[in-house]
Amino acid sequence: MPDTLSIAVRPLVEYAFLSGSLDDRFRTATALTEGTKAHQRVQARYGEQDRKEVYLRTEIPYGDLLFAVDGRCDGLLVEDGRTVVEEIKSTRGDLTAIGEDTYPVHWAQAYCYAYMYAKDHDLAQMRVRLTYVQVETEEERRFEREVPRETLARVILDAVEAYAPYALMLHAHRQARDASIASLAFPFERYRSGQRKLAAAVFRSIEAGHNLFARAPTGIGKTMSTLYPAVKAIGQGTLQHLFYLTARTTTRAAAEEAMARMRAGGLRMHAVTITAKEKICFQDEVACRPESCPYADGYYDRINGAVLDMLTEETTMSREVVERYARKHRVCPFEFSLDAAYASDAVICDYNYVFDPRISLKRYAGERKGDTALLVDEAHNLVDRAREMYSAVLEKRGFLELQRAYKGVDAAVHQAAKGVNAAFIVLRKSIGEEGRLVLDGQPEALEAAVEAFVSAAEKVLSAGAVRAETPQLLDAYFAAYDWLRIGKLYDERYVTYVETVRGSDVRIRQFCLDPSHLLRQMRKGYRSQICFSATLSPLNFYMDMIGADAEDYTISVPSPFDREQWDVLILPVSTRFRDRERSREKIVRQLADLLERRPGNYLIFFPSYAYMNEVYEAFAAERPDVATLLQTPDMPEEERERFLAAFDAARRETLAGFAVMGGVFSEGVDLVGDRLQGVVVVGVGMPQLGLERNLIKAYFDARGMNGFDYAYVYPGMNKVLQAGGRLIRSEQDRGVLLLVDDRYLQQPYRSLLPEEWRQDGGAGEA
Ligand code: SF4
Repeated sequence: MPDTLSIAVRPLVEYAFLSGSLDDRFRTATALTEGTKAHQRVQARYGEQDRKEVYLRTEIPYGDLLFAVDGRCDGLLVEDGRTVVEEIKSTRGDLTAIGEDTYPVHWAQAYCYAYMYAKDHDLAQMRVRLTYVQVETEEERRFEREVPRETLARVILDAVEAYAPYALMLHAHRQARDASIASLAFPFERYRSGQRKLAAAVFRSIEAGHNLFARAPTGIGKTMSTLYPAVKAIGQGTLQHLFYLTARTTTRAAAEEAMARMRAGGLRMHAVTITAKEKICFQDEVACRPESCPYADGYYDRINGAVLDMLTEETTMSREVVERYARKHRVCPFEFSLDAAYASDAVICDYNYVFDPRISLKRYAGERKGDTALLVDEAHNLVDRAREMYSAVLEKRGFLELQRAYKGVDAAVHQAAKGVNAAFIVLRKSIGEEGRLVLDGQPEALEAAVEAFVSAAEKVLSAGAVRAETPQLLDAYFAAYDWLRIGKLYDERYVTYVETVRGSDVRIRQFCLDPSHLLRQMRKGYRSQICFSATLSPLNFYMDMIGADAEDYTISVPSPFDREQWDVLILPVSTRFRDRERSREKIVRQLADLLERRPGNYLIFFPSYAYMNEVYEAFAAERPDVATLLQTPDMPEEERERFLAAFDAARRETLAGFAVMGGVFSEGVDLVGDRLQGVVVVGVGMPQLGLERNLIKAYFDARGMNGFDYAYVYPGMNKVLQAGGRLIRSEQDRGVLLLVDDRYLQQPYRSLLPEEWRQDGGAGEA
């Protein structure tokens, strides 16, 4: 029996017949859903004998292989006693611009269905129809051909021939991959303490098709403990693909290293890293049009060759590898990485590509999800990241400017922008002295005005004429469209608030208070989601916020480090906002004293830049002899690297690096051994009191939970655990941790500290 390879008609013909360039010029965001409606409108006219969405399948032998090709054809109609195969396509553009041969790929798709039907019914020829529908005007344009069966057969054979090298490469790769996984040993000499336990839990969860929430401390090698069992699950056929999802670039590097280590141990697996478009773009400006970017021009003519080449030659496809092949084949590196991702076994990328509906990988659907596991690294970050993904904001100013800019240019856009601006003015009047207003639900007048604006803007933008005002209109259109899209998700887990900003401008935000159900929806269909972090603490809180299911598994792995490695001190002073001036001197004295008694390299963390700067200045005045470093907001990458490089194990003089909790130096930074001898954490990391946090608090209070803990205490203590966790990174590390706040001696803060920080009899007082 020859090996059978399955492929659906649409991806087959798209692979074989798609050509042309990338073009980011306006394509309406609503087109897809309206396209489905347009299909249904055409199909609703079908007669009794006509059939829609008809499943068809055929087998095409090719060399030693058999290609099983299948799909659903839009319509099989009976006209004058003969069967017509109909393929329906929708557009928002001008129907008259579409000729009979504009889209050969559409004909190819229809021909494939026609071939399958003709073969099954032994027909010598078929009538094939392409119907284009304009989604707004509902106008239609049809093209029809009588096609002999030999021609239909030629098209499907050509498609299979074009696709076969790629399919053969994947087929051979999968066999090599599975064989390499079968003999793949754990890529370290021994498991570290706790590592085997975590790896086993990950494997069991994937096997059972459950999700896992794993609290696993620093030092056990979480990346390998999750990747290795997932790779093994691929080898056993439980999975075909995995996503390693991260919040930051640095942790993406750790996943790449783990893949490289397994590759050195014999693994043959395609793993591609997706880098954000703005970062990986080869051009000075991201303008993805054939006339301005050579990597966009003719992209689809070259992409198959590029993917085939890279996947034949490489297994670990980091940013550098993607860039190298993108230059070689002159294709856009970002789109290329996405195309390679669809073909790869493992994808290493940001959370967004799975959880954010704006940019998630749209072609990643259905069956494929069921064969895929999600490994969510540092999953504590997902809560606030998800709140951002599922919230939307609009500002009045952009609409006022458009109202002015389009006066006398386009009456519909002018009027629509004026309508949104007017709705904002009504809202501004009700804001009152405080400058803020929390609304009960969505403001109807604004919703209607935004809808009207989207519709007017789409008409102008899809006409394609580029004017000086176009970028402004595009920005407003996308913001408005995003607003409506989030509006569709809006329910009791959301709140809307309005505030005045920059004097008289008005800003409105649909704010997602509880992202758990949306995260649950986005991960629906995937076989298993493994959420892991050193600071998923308290576990119940994170399970609640990330949307755990009742049957999900949990695991807590104890720290592999000895308690003796930590010397924990508590300085019980108040760092509450009102007491900061009073306690500053004491904190500075204690810092100076600690650095005097125990010289070395220190990281000193604060809850805000303002607080950090105050203490820094006082400290620099008290101890001008101590070398200091100061984190600044939006620090460029080179400066960050210089900051970290100063933490040198060979350094003689004491170094005090002042940084903020929740910033770039408080997570994902590994200063192993003598590079770091001490960490000081000032305060309990609490987010600043503010409207959004208070709204979260009120929401959870109303549901019988402790809203203050959910909004302030738990997120704050997470930052403390992350910052303090910088200190001990290996079995050899030793160091002093000074926690500055009287609340560390009180509940619930005390019980939120990790075991190893609590020490027998409690931490010593500084
Ligand atoms: S290289 Fe840059 S400008 Fe060109 S298509 Fe890619 S992202 Fe767009």
